[in-house]
Amino acid sequence: MRSLYLSLFEECKRKYEGALGRGDLEAARDYALKCARILKALAEKVPGKREFYLEKAESWENAARELGPRPPSPVPQSNTRRISSEDEYRSRVEGLISRSAVTWNDIGGLCGVKKLLAQSVALAFAKKPEAIKPWRGILLFGPPGTGKTLLASAAAGSLNATFFNVKASDVLSKYYGESSKLITALYQVARERAPSIVFIDEVDALSLKRESVHEATRRTLATLLAEIDGFKGRGEGFVLTLASTNTPWDLDEALLSRFPLRVYVPPPDKGAAKDILRIHTKGLDISKLDLDAIAEESVRRLYSGREIANLCSLAIHHMLEDVNPELTDLERLSNLEVNGLELKVRPLEMRDFEEAFKKIKNPLTRKEIERYEKWAEEFGG
Ligand code: ADP
Repeated sequence: MRSLYLSLFEECKRKYEGALGRGDLEAARDYALKCARILKALAEKVPGKREFYLEKAESWENAARELGPRPPSPVPQSNTRRISSEDEYRSRVEGLISRSAVTWNDIGGLCGVKKLLAQSVALAFAKKPEAIKPWRGILLFGPPGTGKTLLASAAAGSLNATFFNVKASDVLSKYYGESSKLITALYQVARERAPSIVFIDEVDALSLKRESVHEATRRTLATLLAEIDGFKGRGEGFVLTLASTNTPWDLDEALLSRFPLRVYVPPPDKGAAKDILRIHTKGLDISKLDLDAIAEESVRRLYSGREIANLCSLAIHHMLEDVNPELTDLERLSNLEVNGLELKVRPLEMRDFEEAFKKIKNPLTRKEIERYEKWAEEFGG
């Protein structure tokens, strides 16, 4: 049942993104609210992840609110307004803490990467003799959608560590000095709540190699580098920094040197693709599927894990429409939890996937993958 709701959610999310892309804010707002409703229904269906889904539902409601029917208010939004007090820095940073419900089993393939990361993270936080120095920074690099964020979430989940999920844009402020203070506050709170993992997504945005590097970015980067090193010797808890990038060649030397362990997260091979297909069809009957053929086609098309997950959502959606022809409009679908209506299901069939393949574009080229492989050979470690 969870897969069904997730498939509805993905469909709704796609429509939301489509509406945003068209600039139709009103439709985008409606879809955001529908996403929130589906997530709330999921929270009821999956008690183990209730809080996780409720939290996500809330962020969709916030997204809808930001697209509200009234024109944007002239009062600056919270993340564009100047921060006025130490407490505010802390609460901004505390807002980046996310509860990770992801486990290693939710990640298909990537066996070597999972093992390496699990070991490094365990070593970082284990009690050990002084002489053993753990990695303080680990870089995950590879094409978009290959599971880098999932890996970081699973690492945090496996240790029950406090997980700070930070996008570089969360700490880059247009106000002078604010970004550095945010980074300092981030690591201070992380140390207080240790064991902590600070995950910095799109870390390339902080690199000095970028074309127009402002003085503020230099200062921010210098603060970040010092915090990763943990030179301040305050004796508080250990913080591990995981960073992720889709463009490792944009990282400058100073940044790279703080991440001596650089892990390539590649697109899935056939075995990994099969794993990912199983994960994203969990709870449904897949006995009629030729998983080998679907995995082979996915690899031939150079799909990432994200595209395979989307492929499953679309195939499930196709199956649902087939056996629930009365449910043709999204309005009724997303009101399911209100009406308590149960969807009919049938085993997934190859024709569901054939339809889905028609809709999922291949975003990567062989040449791009070779560029990652080359960088991995030269700089990976
Ligand atoms: P990245 O951080 O590399 O851009 P994500 O970790 O955010 O990619 O992955 C995006 C989505 O794609 C995930 O939420 C998940 O649904 C799916 N996905 C990607 N890789 C995998 C994988 N190896 N196993 C299972 N699902 C995956």
